[in-house]
Amino acid sequence: MFATPPSDKLPPVPEDRGIPSEVWSLIDHPSDRGRSGCGPGWSDLIVTTHRRLLEIDPTYSPGGVRQKLGWLDFQLNPGPDTDQATIERLWAVQAEVREASKHICESCGGEGRIYEPPERGAGRTRCDACESCER
Ligand SMILES: [Zn+2]
Repeated sequence: MFATPPSDKLPPVPEDRGIPSEVWSLIDHPSDRGRSGCGPGWSDLIVTTHRRLLEIDPTYSPGGVRQKLGWLDFQLNPGPDTDQATIERLWAVQAEVREASKHICESCGGEGRIYEPPERGAGRTRCDACESCER
């Protein structure tokens, strides 16, 4: 048998992703280790969201982040003893962040908008510069 790394340890942040390690540690996709669920342009938004959620519920944990139809899907797990009113406040932040991400370029963090299909297959949020150079 080969020695396996501890399961709670994420691989190092790939340098080309440009994602701060603080954000990287939030991302936990057991079936997809080593890959981020979204681009580096949303790093600040993710860090801010995480801090806001912790203020509301210190026992909350992030369930992972990913890009979904062009916006940021910040998955979260309320603490085991968190009451319903607090859970609803967590959801409100989650919804607010989803809307905010629709105006932030997922690649560079600049002012973006959702580019709609059909030419790219699925919506994604980009600024004009990133959209034209990634095209
Ligand atoms: Zn951009």
